[in-house]
Amino acid sequence: MATAFVDDIKEIKEENPFESMMQRFDEAARLLDLDPNIYKILRWPTREITLYIPVLMDDGNYQVFTGYRVQHNFARGPAKGGVRFSPDVSLDEVRALAAWMTWKCAVVNIPFGGAKGGIICDPRQMSLGELERLTRRYTAELLDFIGPERDVPAPDMNTNERVMAWMMDTYSMHARHTVTAVVTGKPVEIGGSRGRKEATGRGLLFVCNEACKRFNLNIPDTRVVIQGCGNVGGTAALLMDHQSYKIIGLGDITGSLYNPAGLSVKSVLEYLQENKTVEGYPRAEHITNEELLELECDILMPAATENQITSHNADRIKCKVLAEGANGPTTAEADEIIFEKNVFVIPDILANAGGVTVSYFEWVQDRMGFFWTEKVVNERLQEIMVNSFHSVVDFAEKFKVNTRQAAYMLGIDRVAYDTRLRGIYA
Ligand code: NAD
Repeated sequence: MATAFVDDIKEIKEENPFESMMQRFDEAARLLDLDPNIYKILRWPTREITLYIPVLMDDGNYQVFTGYRVQHNFARGPAKGGVRFSPDVSLDEVRALAAWMTWKCAVVNIPFGGAKGGIICDPRQMSLGELERLTRRYTAELLDFIGPERDVPAPDMNTNERVMAWMMDTYSMHARHTVTAVVTGKPVEIGGSRGRKEATGRGLLFVCNEACKRFNLNIPDTRVVIQGCGNVGGTAALLMDHQSYKIIGLGDITGSLYNPAGLSVKSVLEYLQENKTVEGYPRAEHITNEELLELECDILMPAATENQITSHNADRIKCKVLAEGANGPTTAEADEIIFEKNVFVIPDILANAGGVTVSYFEWVQDRMGFFWTEKVVNERLQEIMVNSFHSVVDFAEKFKVNTRQAAYMLGIDRVAYDTRLRGIYA
């Protein structure tokens, strides 16, 4: 009984994303021999906001939703980070995601700090009108804290261009003029950037291409398994399929598909769009989400949510390259096992940074009022992703650390340097 209790506590701790982030942060700080005063500053978020948001529901009753915005760090510029709608949102999760944004922006060297927002709700059970009222009230409550020079939200799990349009409109109504740069990931017609919707998936494609070069993998023979068919996983799957990678496994929350000869990603996504489930899809074997992650493959891309690779299944992972599309898909405990198995990890704060990179481009374009072609966006994205991939890999080799430690060390070192430059000690 007592052992079961200890195991439960261990599991709760392992799957707490904030603990996962802090374990990596602490390790990187130790390896960097980080100044203890800078350590004290960076280990805390700057600001945490909790909101209780009353929303008129379609049945005429009110429901009060809990929402958060955590602003982790401003040393390198305005805070930046997505907003997620999910029943699983918690303050610890948002805290972790906000800190990951700080390190991620620093890894790809763009001038933002980190933030994240979330609302505890189940968008699948809500009407469009309810979601719009929830989004607008959440935005109105945050008016004093967000803005182009303060904190710039973006889409994340279960939020999209439409939600960003509502946020931009609500902020603009209060500012009494249109403020496009208050959020990124908007529709192109109202200040969004070309290429933003595909940017995270495209960034993943670029880093996977670099990994293939590094390990002499021939793209048409490279077997890829992707968990998640949303903005990140779905787009990465389409772009990789288009570049003739062999996508042998693909899954979402409703189930997973396997075809060793390669799936037609387009037809899977169309089926999913139409049926809202992969159940019944004809041209593949149906497997569980657990089995999907354990398929033998060259590249495994968890692109759904946190804690998918843990101490329970890490030893059954059979990939050469782990390209983390989601934030925090691998727990700190699983890292040890994964690196022991010599899996080449492209860590989340590098691998999925394409989204925030093009969000940065969107913010720049909004402030200039001058919009770039998709070709320019994609070329600039490629340059940043490829350079950042090599910075992390070179750092790992130079300092004899693994790629996860290298990415954290690189990011934290840049934030620490800028904190010192700004003279926080004065
Ligand atoms: P999304 O809502 O568009 O898609 C999520 C996908 O994951 C869906 O297909 C869903 O069915 C699936 N999924 C969710 N829970 C699952 C589970 N337990 N098992 C299997 N499948 C599951 O979200 P998204 O924008 O694609 O984000 C996915 C991940 O990528 C999140 O961790 C997010 O923080 C991260 N991320 C997103 C962006 C972005 O630009 N959207 C950028 C960087 C990182």
